[in-house]
Parts: sequence; structure tokens; C-alpha cells
Amino acid sequence: MNVSIEQQAKSDIIIIGAGIIGLSIAYHLLEIEPKLSITVLEKEKILGLGSTGKCTGGIRYQLSSPLLRRLSFLSREFFHNFESVFDVPIWYREKGYLMLASNEALWNQLQVTNGQAEAEGIPMRLLNQDELLRNYPFLNKDRFRGGTFCPWDAYADPYAVLAALYAAVRRQGVDIHFDREALKIIIKGDTIKGVETTQGTIWSPLIVNAAGPYAARFAAMGGVTLPVQPFRRQVYVCTNPKDVPKNSPSIIDLASGFYLHQEASGKTVLLGGTDQDTWPGLEEVVDKSVAEGFFEAAMETIPSAIDIKWLRTYTGICEQTPDFHPIIGEASGLKGLFFANGFSGNGFMHAPAAGRIMADLVLKGGTKWMDVSPFHPDRFARGCPLGSNS
Ligand SMILES: Cc1cc2nc3c(=O)[nH]c(=O)nc-3n(C[C@H](O)[C@H](O)[C@H](O)COP(=O)(O)OP(=O)(O)OC[C@H]3O[C@@H](n4cnc5c(N)ncnc54)[C@H](O)[C@@H]3O)c2cc1C
Repeated sequence: MNVSIEQQAKSDIIIIGAGIIGLSIAYHLLEIEPKLSITVLEKEKILGLGSTGKCTGGIRYQLSSPLLRRLSFLSREFFHNFESVFDVPIWYREKGYLMLASNEALWNQLQVTNGQAEAEGIPMRLLNQDELLRNYPFLNKDRFRGGTFCPWDAYADPYAVLAALYAAVRRQGVDIHFDREALKIIIKGDTIKGVETTQGTIWSPLIVNAAGPYAARFAAMGGVTLPVQPFRRQVYVCTNPKDVPKNSPSIIDLASGFYLHQEASGKTVLLGGTDQDTWPGLEEVVDKSVAEGFFEAAMETIPSAIDIKWLRTYTGICEQTPDFHPIIGEASGLKGLFFANGFSGNGFMHAPAAGRIMADLVLKGGTKWMDVSPFHPDRFARGCPLGSNS
């Protein structure tokens, strides 16, 4: 019998994007239905060229939004057990984050978050000005009103996690096509039929948009407006400030957005976070003109940053929604098109929860893990965005 290529190119589910979100969804779908045929389309030639490969690997429970803390909570076991389940090192370390408030309003916000987190069983603790400076004397003694610390906050190597997930889902039979871009969503009436790609058509009644910073561009191929915008983030790789001891927690100065993440050797740090107001775009070029302002913010937080050596800079793109919460759910009026997008700087830490939830939504029509209706794609059109988060 002569079977055409198009007849053969069928899949139970197509996932757009082989980043941490797409591969986590594939992994969790197979946990429920090991026999599913899953196709992942990736426009790049190799793994890790999207946001996931640029990410600094922070995992945090100290988030002001209860919904986002719930996503962190649901992801905890996955990261905790990763090395034993996948038998691969991911350098998972719980060394905590220090969140710093430099004014009364931010200090109040930290106290509210602390109260809520404690009630949820998250071991976050408040540090008044004295405790902060006694424990972390390298901080600018004139700047901070107080801070919080959570020992569960952690780091893991994003590329190691991505590569392990990739290997695991490949072993279970997922078809991952690199250098194959989705170009058009095929729709009949109100139902998904498949995707046209740079190398032919694939038919499927279910498509999951996990296209990271390209999420809105892909959604538009189905006529859907998705308010996810890409923003450039610069990461400065520098030598460790001399008075910051090895194994220090990661640090976030809430007012400036400045963060410091110390790498495992204790000799180098990743710095960044002050570039919140860049305009939307997918360009990954380094902008050295903002470096001076950046290092001023660094010295405001940690005065000894004046002596660090700036080794190199790279950029990545963050996919952001207007309310800094993800979009998780099925498109209204378009059966079979699902979104797992707009993780707004938290997509690595929330990928396990996103995978678990999305697998339930796609295969069972609902999830028991949390009420995900607040994440629905329609909330912006309905004028019900969520509160912002930090
Ligand atoms: C500098 C930086 C630091 C960060 N730090 C943290 C952190 O500490 N903690 C944290 O939790 N998060 C962090 N993030 C955010 C995190 O990296 C992202 O939220 C997460 O990686 C998003 O994963 P993703 O799979 O959705 O996107 P991606 O990893 O970008 O994957 C999407 C993939 O889809 C592919 N694609 C797009 N369109 C198409 C198409 N039409 N056809 C086929 N393929 C397509 C892309 O090529 C890409 O590979 C950081 C981000 C940046 C940039």
C-alpha cells in the first residue's frame, strides 16, 4: 500500500518548543499515559538555545504571590529527587535566598509574604536590620531596612536539568525534531487539526504552546492574541566580591532588582536584574551602555563590588505577562490548543509544576493540584489580571 508522508505524520500531541517547559510537559504526559505519541518541534538546531539555556537557575519560595508559591511548592519534590530519579548531577543546592528591603513599603511587603509563607509551611524568616548586618556584614549598612531568608531556596543547573529531561523523554519514545519550526496552526471550525512546519505537516488534535519568548508569535498563527512579551535580560559574569564568603545565599535587592548568584566554586558570581525597563524584543545583543548604571546598583547593595572583575556578559530573553503570572490553560473557542507560557522570570523553577498541571489539563480536563483558573489565558481580555509579583 502506498502511504503518503502526510498520512504518516500524525501524533497524539504536538508540543511547540524543546525548552524546560515543553520537555517537562512531555515527561509528565508520559507519566500518565506511557503509550502516547508525542512530537516536540524545536526551531533551533540544538538543545538549550532558548531562555532555559540562559537562565541563572534560581529556585525560590520567597515570592509575594501565593499562586506562584504554590507552583514552587508543587515543583519541590521533583527538584529534590531529580538526581536519584534521573541518575544525573544537576548541582542542586539549597543555600537560600536573601531578599532585601531598602524602604518601609518593601519591608512591609516582606513581612506580609513571610506571614503567608509561614502559614503554608514554608520556612521563611524575617531578619531585622541588626540581624541582617550581623549575619551579612558585606551588605551596604546604610541601605537596608530588613530582609528575609528561606533555606529551601535553591539553585540547580538549568542546562543539566534540560539535558536529563531530553534524554529521558527520548528514551521513552518522544519524537523531538530540531531545526523544524512550526509555521501555521491548521484549524477546522473551532478545532485544532495540526501544524504546518518548515518540513511538512504534522496532524494532531492537541497542540501545546511551550514556545517561551515566541509564545505570542506562535499563538498568533492560530489567530489568538497572547499577552506574552519578550524582554532582554543581561547577565554579568564577575569575580566574587572579596568580602562575600563562599556558599553565601543568593541575594535580591527588591528596590533595584539587582541580584547576585554565587557559582559553586565561590570564585565567580552571576549578577543581573536591573534591566526591568528594557523594551520588548527578541534581540539578544549585549548593551554595554547600561553597564555603568548596573555596577552602580551592585555597589549600592554590596560596596566591595567596586573591586570585582567583569569577566563577560551574555543576554537571554524572558517571556513576560502584564501581571507577571503564567498563562496556563486551553484557548477559549479553539479546542485542543493549550498554553504554558509567560512564566515571567520563574519558568525554570516552575517547570515541574507546569508540566504536571498541563499533563492533567490535556489528558483529564482538570487537575487536583491547585485551582488553575486564575492562570486562564482569557483573564486579560476579561479585565481580571492577577496582582503583580516580586
Ligand atoms: C537571564 C535569565 C535569567 C533567568 N533566571 C531564572 C531563574 O533564576 N529562575 C527561573 O525560574 N527562571 C529564570 N529565568 C526564566 C526562565 O529561563 C524561563 O522562564 C524558562 O526558561 C522558559 O522556558 P520555556 O521552555 O518556556 O522557554 P525556552 O527555553 O525559550 O524554550 C522555548 C523553545 O521554543 C522554541 N520555539 C519557539 N517558537 C517555535 C516555533 N514556532 N517552532 C518550533 N520551536 C519554537 C524556541 O527555539 C525555544 O527553544 C531566567 C531567564 C533569563 C533570560
